[in-house]
Amino acid sequence: MRLYPLFADLNGLPVLVVGGGSVAERKVAALLEAGAVVRVGAPRLLPALADQAADGRIAHLDGAFEPSWLDDVWLVIAATDNRDLNAEVAACATGRRILCNVVDDPALSRFQVPAVVDRAPLTIGISTGGAAPMFARRVRETLESHLDPAIGPLVALAQRHRKAIVDAFPDLAARRRFYDGLYDGPVLDLLRHARHFEAEAALLEALDRDAPPVPGSVVLVGAGPGDPGLLTLAGLRELNRADVILHDQLVGPEVLAMTRRDAERIDVGKRGGGRHTPQSEINELLLQHARAGRYVVRLKGGDPLVFGRGGEEMLYLRRHGVACTVVPGVTAAVACAAYAGIPLTHREHAQSVRLLTAHCKDSLDTLDWAALAGERQTLAVYMGLAQLAHLTGQLLAHGRAADTPFALIENGTLPQQRVLRGELHALPALASAHRIAAPALLVIGPVATMADELRWFGEMVDAASRCADADLAFCPSFQRKLEPSASLAT
Ligand code: SAH
Repeated sequence: MRLYPLFADLNGLPVLVVGGGSVAERKVAALLEAGAVVRVGAPRLLPALADQAADGRIAHLDGAFEPSWLDDVWLVIAATDNRDLNAEVAACATGRRILCNVVDDPALSRFQVPAVVDRAPLTIGISTGGAAPMFARRVRETLESHLDPAIGPLVALAQRHRKAIVDAFPDLAARRRFYDGLYDGPVLDLLRHARHFEAEAALLEALDRDAPPVPGSVVLVGAGPGDPGLLTLAGLRELNRADVILHDQLVGPEVLAMTRRDAERIDVGKRGGGRHTPQSEINELLLQHARAGRYVVRLKGGDPLVFGRGGEEMLYLRRHGVACTVVPGVTAAVACAAYAGIPLTHREHAQSVRLLTAHCKDSLDTLDWAALAGERQTLAVYMGLAQLAHLTGQLLAHGRAADTPFALIENGTLPQQRVLRGELHALPALASAHRIAAPALLVIGPVATMADELRWFGEMVDAASRCADADLAFCPSFQRKLEPSASLAT
């Protein structure tokens, strides 16, 4: 048997809740929000309910249940932990043709209260008809995470201008197109960016035209460092919406799999040696696609504005009149440190953390080595593999202690993550002995030692002392790197 779904207007109507505990308290809160006139029947009330009774927000019917409590009410919720009492309330209610819900007891209930996703005025009710409410809860979680929070304000805005919309688009198909334009276009974007006045102005402007053209735009989305679980909810929403996605090589297949099926994907990967799309060409591609009216996602590893050239892309687009927004991502330093068990700051050992890139000789020459060699700080070095010897030499020459701990994290947050630990003076030799390859993030500073105790993910290349100068053929992690399938088989 199926339930009939129903959203009830209880505004101003008397409703009875039997029970004075925490379940009753939750039910009362939801009923009050819907404008019901709530009476609560119970010999004892929790303090919060007692306060509401004292304030006159609810009426308290004291003592044991009496059928007269049901006089005039439209709905009853029985929320006691006494099944006999709940059954009595349900029977009395049914006798009077009053709909009754017994909490967590579908057999005794004439109506059930769904799990709710609240984007007021948009409300989604989810029910399994009492079959397995736990699944309704999981579905609710899924919807909560996928549903744009700006959808509530959008519905409210449309409600406010409903008459004007109907007047402007008397034809149903045209009206549907108009609403689609609100949902897919700049009005929802503006609401998402908390620009409510501009959203309303955009809606009113769209009302003036017949078929509002949706201007293209670009959003820079941070994909995080690799683990697809580190993509943000906002990032996921953008991926589901994009017409075209320009992504870097660092963005893994699991993240790309989350994009809309029919979206066009363009790999503009820029890893040294491989295919390489010059930045000017990327800028031009972004501009062209946006100008063609498409919704463009520029998907970048980590955070788009940390060593990602996102700033240059934004400026270029803005200067060419194309709107560009940003969804931040978890940057490699933050993610790799976390997955290696390294706190980037520490009350005693590191009061600051610096993000720097050691991409090439030129970028290294502009760094303030004296400042970087200072103690009680953490350095997080991006793109540093090619310049390890130079970087180490400069830090040592400027006074950083030779035994300063480091951690080099390769493929951070991915299943093949490896963490190499050691002391600064040995860094270049160890990194090459263990064939650490890009992408790798280098953490220098006393906090790096904490990985030894706090690590929880992936492998530790623990063979620093055994492997540094030894025959690498005997180093297990080195072998695994060379022959991954063979080592899996053993
Ligand atoms: N915008 C990115 C950084 C791009 S620069 C961000 O915010 O993370 C590319 C460098 O980031 C790599 O050379 C490496 O140093 C670092 N990196 C990115 N992903 C990484 C990963 N999964 N593991 C280790 N380092 C990573």
